[in-house]
Amino acid sequence: MTSADCVVRGCRQALTLAGAAPRRGAAMRDAACLENAWLAGCDGRLVFVGDEAAFRRDVRVAPGAAVVDGAGLVALPGFVDAHTHLPFAGHREAEFKLRLDGATYQELAARGMGILTTVAATRAASREELTALCLERLDLMLLTGTTTVEAKSGLDLETEIRQLEALREAAARHPVDIVPTFMGAHEIPPEYRGRKDAYIRFLVDTVLPEIRRRGLAEFCDVFCEEGVFSLEEARLILSSASSAGFKVKIHADEFVPLGGSRWAAGAGAVSAEHLISIPDGDLASLAASRTAAVLLPGVSFFLRLGKTAPARRLVDAGAVVALATDFNPGSSMLSSMLFVWQLGVYTLGLGIEEALAAATINGAYAVDRHRDCGSLEIGKKMDVLLCDVPDYVSLVYRLGVNPIRHVIKAGRVVVRDGRLAPRET
Ligand code: ZN
Repeated sequence: MTSADCVVRGCRQALTLAGAAPRRGAAMRDAACLENAWLAGCDGRLVFVGDEAAFRRDVRVAPGAAVVDGAGLVALPGFVDAHTHLPFAGHREAEFKLRLDGATYQELAARGMGILTTVAATRAASREELTALCLERLDLMLLTGTTTVEAKSGLDLETEIRQLEALREAAARHPVDIVPTFMGAHEIPPEYRGRKDAYIRFLVDTVLPEIRRRGLAEFCDVFCEEGVFSLEEARLILSSASSAGFKVKIHADEFVPLGGSRWAAGAGAVSAEHLISIPDGDLASLAASRTAAVLLPGVSFFLRLGKTAPARRLVDAGAVVALATDFNPGSSMLSSMLFVWQLGVYTLGLGIEEALAAATINGAYAVDRHRDCGSLEIGKKMDVLLCDVPDYVSLVYRLGVNPIRHVIKAGRVVVRDGRLAPRET
């Protein structure tokens, strides 16, 4: 008998996503669905997934255990959002409206709008303000089923440290797990305009070692794009980061293909992200590699690009495809992974089960957490969504509603009846 301090009784269905991780090709179509499933956890980890008879035989429910009635509900693993820019201040509604009315990027920049608005607000924000903003956003994410989130910093050294400290503080106070990524090479700060080489040297010689010394980030990411960082520059920064002990990600082939995903595949980067403009030849090398392709359908949707990453071809070629929000104030003000799952189906041409695998187990792989979360399997964190729908297909069929009734994070019920439980701190 195994002891349990958290139990979900009798779910209509449980999409366990159990099996080899990450998922590729045809394996992405199998959500490993169990009918009438019982789940049990102890100390935050799953100790049982199976039917009622096996549960009654194998599990002893500890006194005081949390017991959730899963009758009529569909269970799935908590979503893993593998790409966000969580710690920013300010917002850009005014610019958004003007852009919809036809203003060009240059016109907006001339009016002092664009990324510099939120850069200035973030620089002016205190660590406490950034922490409060992160906590608010994590609440919204949790309500739509995200239980693990990657979060990128990305400004000058002092702001960078404040952002990463805010993430650490938020992680300590919020049930959602945060995977922190250092992204100093996101833009060239105004004070380094025309002196990009000096900025790169500063990043490599001063900032990376300082972030490492303080243990503030696990990954390093670079925006490799025309007019931002070239492939040569990205390689220089990411190889230094890798030598310093960071795991590596790259924003690649978003607008102009510069060879970022090909480099990522060859260098063993954990992920290449965006890929809207990935060339065919690079698609094949990415598919043959261990590097995850993190696709962000919210960006194409939000910017009305009329063009998406070639998700269907990436899956068919055998790439590890993950889906994420790219939550940020300029190109994807989207925090819901439930909606990203739906976008994966409606706008990227993925099947319901494929897009789900991309939003859970493959998302976990893209942040190196696939041994820990992303599926409902014994030994993994008990991160479970319980949804009030007649069948899992309804989760993609019914748009614009949130059917997530309860969320269990690491064996604790953190959303009950659609409401956040009070935080412990
Ligand atoms: Zn991004």
